[in-house]
Amino acid sequence: MNGLRIGVVGAGIVGASCALALAREGHEVTVFDPHRPGGPHAASHGNGGWISPASILPMSSPGLWKKIPGYLLDRQGPLALRVSSLPWLMPWLWRFVRAGSTWDKVRATAMSLHRLLHDAPDRHREFAQWAHAGHLLHHTGLLYVYPHRGAFEADAMAWQLRRELGVSWVELEGDALQARAPALPRAGQLGLWVPEGAWCSDPGDYVRLLLQAAQRLGAEHRQAQVKGLQLHQGRCTGVLTDPGPCGFDRVLITAGIDSPQLARQAGDVLPLASERGYHVVLPHAALDLPIPIMPSDGRMANTMTPQGLRLAGQVELARPGADPDWARAGVLLAHARRTYPALNPDARRQDLSRWMGHRPSTPDGLPVIGPSPACEGLWYACGHGHVGLAAAARTALWVTQGISVSSSGTLPGDWPEFGIGRFA
Ligand SMILES: Cc1cc2nc3c(=O)[nH]c(=O)nc-3n(C[C@H](O)[C@H](O)[C@H](O)COP(=O)(O)OP(=O)(O)OC[C@H]3O[C@@H](n4cnc5c(N)ncnc54)[C@H](O)[C@@H]3O)c2cc1C
Repeated sequence: MNGLRIGVVGAGIVGASCALALAREGHEVTVFDPHRPGGPHAASHGNGGWISPASILPMSSPGLWKKIPGYLLDRQGPLALRVSSLPWLMPWLWRFVRAGSTWDKVRATAMSLHRLLHDAPDRHREFAQWAHAGHLLHHTGLLYVYPHRGAFEADAMAWQLRRELGVSWVELEGDALQARAPALPRAGQLGLWVPEGAWCSDPGDYVRLLLQAAQRLGAEHRQAQVKGLQLHQGRCTGVLTDPGPCGFDRVLITAGIDSPQLARQAGDVLPLASERGYHVVLPHAALDLPIPIMPSDGRMANTMTPQGLRLAGQVELARPGADPDWARAGVLLAHARRTYPALNPDARRQDLSRWMGHRPSTPDGLPVIGPSPACEGLWYACGHGHVGLAAAARTALWVTQGISVSSSGTLPGDWPEFGIGRFA
């Protein structure tokens, strides 16, 4: 079933990857996005750049509910909840807490994320080759760092699960850790080097190049917002934009945090909340960071980018439209100061840049990938939460395979845990 007319709504990392994979299959692709692909409006612009096969643990884990009061009060911690947003967040939070209420549930989610991420670096290598973006990807491995062995042991369950699922790592201490991460202080810390891991030094530019590659294959980018879906007798026949309606054989929703409005119109339930994250970029950090580092106590990705050292992290749950809390960016900076004694002391006064983005997060930590049960011809690839960059290439391959087979069929491998029907 080649050569379908496919409308892709949203050109973040997921939409751009899907557009490229679909165009390579010979489909006639039109991508809608009112913004510059890879620009700062999108989550795909400012993320930590990690493409890690180890990112398989969901945020929700047993006992989380006991910590919620602390998250409401602690303005310095890696997870914050805005009190004023609680009424809006409650239904999502309830599902979120339940999704991780037992280790069996966490294990099941980790297994699903493992299917999505186990070969993420290789899949991205392929996509980057197609897009002439190889210079943005680095296959050096990734480094998780604990302040001491005791902290790692407190997190043992998560690493045991990773080991069970085939994620491998090398423990590094003392000189061996220093050799990989000269910026870390000498004493006491434990590093876990995940050699399979890769990273992207400019995630926004990667999106731009992926979309450009799709355009070379005939895809069109229309700088327009999709205002609604064109529906006819239980079928999605196109999209509505300001210049007018556009007809398609298939419509794929890849609109990140804005996907639920379109899903609702089709009769699908898509419970997404924004897990807002922040970044700070220090143009003159004066640090040697040959591979990215994730300090466990700061839960942030520290990654070198062409603009400088990017500190990306924090989770803040707040209702849509709430103002950014730039104090969160200050927390990232303060943490970096503690982690890297050699960080340029003038960093705070430099022209650092700050950014806030919306992780499009489902309560169970799994993305939505697959056809709409409510509306024929409509597909979803959204809700990738913390792993949208890492998972984009595999997502695009699944969507392309699924769409090419049938309009309402299942994903290759038939994995219902990714289907939107789980929220009905
Ligand atoms: C601080 C932070 C750090 C992160 N670190 C990592 C990391 O290291 N590794 C990783 O894998 N992930 C990471 N993530 C998560 C990752 O960035 C997201 O999961 C991913 O970018 C989501 O991509 P997306 O394409 O679904 O959404 P987006 O990038 O938000 O793109 C959605 C696009 O849809 C467009 N759109 C919306 N509505 C419409 C409409 N109606 N019509 C047309 N277009 C529309 C928007 O303009 C936008 O361009 C991080 C996120 C944050 C915030």
